[in-house]
Amino acid sequence: MYDAIKITGGKAVIDESCIFCGACIEVCKFKSIKIVGLDEVKEKDFSSYSGVCVFLETNNNKIIDVSYELISAARVLADELGVLLSAVAIGCGLENNLGEAFEYGLDRLYLVESPVFSANFDDIFAKALVQVISKYKPEIFLAGATSFGRTLIPRVAAILNTGLTADCTGLEIDKQKKILLQTRPTFGGNILATIITKNSRPQMATVRPHVMEKKKIREANTDYREKIECIDVDETKFKTKYKLVNVEKETSENINITDYDVIVSGGRGLGSGDKFAMLKELAELLGGVVGASRAAVDSGWISYPHQVGQTGKTVNPKIYIACGISGAIQHLAGMQTSDIIVAINKDPGAPIFRVANYGIVGDLFEVVPKLINRIKSGK
Ligand code: FAD
Repeated sequence: MYDAIKITGGKAVIDESCIFCGACIEVCKFKSIKIVGLDEVKEKDFSSYSGVCVFLETNNNKIIDVSYELISAARVLADELGVLLSAVAIGCGLENNLGEAFEYGLDRLYLVESPVFSANFDDIFAKALVQVISKYKPEIFLAGATSFGRTLIPRVAAILNTGLTADCTGLEIDKQKKILLQTRPTFGGNILATIITKNSRPQMATVRPHVMEKKKIREANTDYREKIECIDVDETKFKTKYKLVNVEKETSENINITDYDVIVSGGRGLGSGDKFAMLKELAELLGGVVGASRAAVDSGWISYPHQVGQTGKTVNPKIYIACGISGAIQHLAGMQTSDIIVAINKDPGAPIFRVANYGIVGDLFEVVPKLINRIKSGK
């Protein structure tokens, strides 16, 4: 299949296009193929590692939502393993904004505070995280798959020489082996792969925002100060290679579609940008926001912050209404975990109907105005 076996000089030679799938081993009638060098590594002793730890990402000194979502998910993992749930926060001036994290079930918080961490620079943040992880040795370390998380955490994993599963959508404990099962979509969302970190620790994963549910399990306003441990750092050893020139807000519409419970998305089937007004009306009536396929964004009908999918936002609203969107795998990768999916498409064979809870086969220019009128008339 990969064309890796070539006959040269009467000999079969396996070249560098081999992906070590092992398929040739089974079919070789001479039983002469063997993969060497990939032998099982002997069981390692990871008994010095214990606990689940979460990176608390902040923006303007406030903990961002995905960190709370991760604490809630990590609480479940820590309870299953019967271990401590900790978190690491790095920054400058965070101390008064950390209490809420304990309401989601945190046991302990390691706080790295210094003016050198006043901006999110991945090089020095990675160094600080490595310092904390090496000292407290959590068996599992989780972070948000945000833009910053996706830059920072691979660095940390590389320095610690451990594996990292990026963009997970599910985390579970294997009850027998007590290891982390890290699930993530692959091949554009067609397959869900479950990955384990067998030969190194910590088991590291980043998780997409809005995939886990955040859930407060403790009372507010409790004094959690004794659960916060300040970590001293030698500031002279944390010199970033970056220089912050300026902070600019997005010039395009400043919208975060992931914050909404209802998303009404439009695709190429809309035909032109002005038709988004109709979807906006429907979205606003439902208290939601407008999303879009890449085809609509690439056509210049709507700005990029509205794009849903592999190269846009991953959304998980209560209701996702797809209008004139075919349901390409790259689009599905960003919305298929929505609670309820409604698809409006005139092609009954459109792949979007395979993931839709409700499918309306019809012309969106007839269906959407009808929906708007129904809602307006209170039906
Ligand atoms: P189309 O596939 O053209 O579908 C239009 C649909 O509208 C059709 O099903 C048609 O039946 C229907 N239609 C037409 N007229 C009407 C009407 N009047 N009423 C009802 N239905 C109608 N795409 C994304 O969306 N997000 C991404 O993040 C993304 N990332 C990508 C990354 C990569 C690396 C690649 C290669 C592609 C990516 N794409 C992404 C593009 C993706 O493959 C598709 O091309 C895109 O999603 C198609 O958009 P669409 O469904 O709007 O358009």
